[in-house]
Amino acid sequence: MSEQTNPFESLQSQIDEASPYVDASDDVIERLKHPERVLETNLTVELDDGSLERFKAFRSQFNGDRGPYKGGIRYHPGVSRDEVKALSGWMVYKCATVGIPYGGGKGGIIIDPDEYSADEIERLTRAFAKELRPLIGVDRDVPAPDVNTGQREMNWIKDTYETLENTTQPGVITGKALDSGGSEGRVEATGRSTVLAAREAFDYLGKDLEDATVAVQGYGNAGWIAAKLIDEMGAKVVAASDSSGGVYNPDGFDPVAAKDHKHETGSISGFEGATDEITNEDILTLDVDLLIPAALENAIDGDLAESVQADVISEAANGPLTPEADQVMADKDVLVIPDILANAGGVTVSYFEWVQNRQRFYWSEERVNEELESIIVVAFDDLVESYEENDLESFRTAAYVVALERVAGAFEEAGTFP
Ligand code: GLU
Repeated sequence: MSEQTNPFESLQSQIDEASPYVDASDDVIERLKHPERVLETNLTVELDDGSLERFKAFRSQFNGDRGPYKGGIRYHPGVSRDEVKALSGWMVYKCATVGIPYGGGKGGIIIDPDEYSADEIERLTRAFAKELRPLIGVDRDVPAPDVNTGQREMNWIKDTYETLENTTQPGVITGKALDSGGSEGRVEATGRSTVLAAREAFDYLGKDLEDATVAVQGYGNAGWIAAKLIDEMGAKVVAASDSSGGVYNPDGFDPVAAKDHKHETGSISGFEGATDEITNEDILTLDVDLLIPAALENAIDGDLAESVQADVISEAANGPLTPEADQVMADKDVLVIPDILANAGGVTVSYFEWVQNRQRFYWSEERVNEELESIIVVAFDDLVESYEENDLESFRTAAYVVALERVAGAFEEAGTFP
């Protein structure tokens, strides 16, 4: 894990790599490298013992040229202003890559949620929702889940917003539970796009995904669902890890049983389907066909990248490779499907949820999955076209070329105000 790499600098260097191929002036590109605004707030929360604790929280609205700001809220001790800025920028380029009508935003609270009770997390979440209320809105800024947040938190934010606004407006937030206006397929969507993109990449390389070996770093919602879906496609999941460590079995194991073990014991270590226990770093350098980093930023730095043996990497996490790692992968001809395509299923089904909320008309799971698949397949083809036409070194740069053209286009059509 590279401590030094600042994710905001990674974002800016990814934009710099792509900008020579983008039909936009340097001034416009400069605008697209910085957030429009960042809220930094201190939340005061009453703990169960009656004492008060202060939590620092952020919401970055990076760019709204293509639509409302959109992006999750993360609860993690590693949250920082620069991390939230980077994550909000990645949302802008993610939404543009897959062509959904949103800008990008992101929020975060510096907290280790495992240390607090559900009641404390509820008070914290509602306090944040109160702070966010003037900034968010169905046509303004639409938050969603991210690391350590899910349906429970989204429902609290929706309820707080609707109570304070005296309205019903489920589309103010996505990733809600089904009964609160959530969408079929939303929970699985990030893992689903990760494996759909991997399938397209294997196809592009003329490789067979069936019988391919797969390692998954991170076994939260994105990681474990990607493991389950890729197993269903016939690939063999041989390794998985979470923050406690990893497990390996060269003959493969049942990813659902591994998730059940994690659910029951709190960690993946000790899973009876494995033959070996491995570290969280070992998993990244295993001799597998496909690697799915599904944890946090900077999982693979330049040094570790030298030892990666996978042919394809599908980034379920946001920002798991540093720019140095990207260079090593390009030199080694490893096909990296960038986060802004691979994990875009989450925000794409959030978009479907928002559309359904606005129409008050709900889709079947089958329809959600079909529409998601067609968006990911079209976006993958757009990347291939840009990659080949511009003779680029990486699919990441191809994605940024596509996305920057779209965002710059929207900005240039409107111009500055005043
Ligand atoms: N947090 C997810 C992401 O990083 C989903 C965002 C959303 O649904 O708005 O893409």
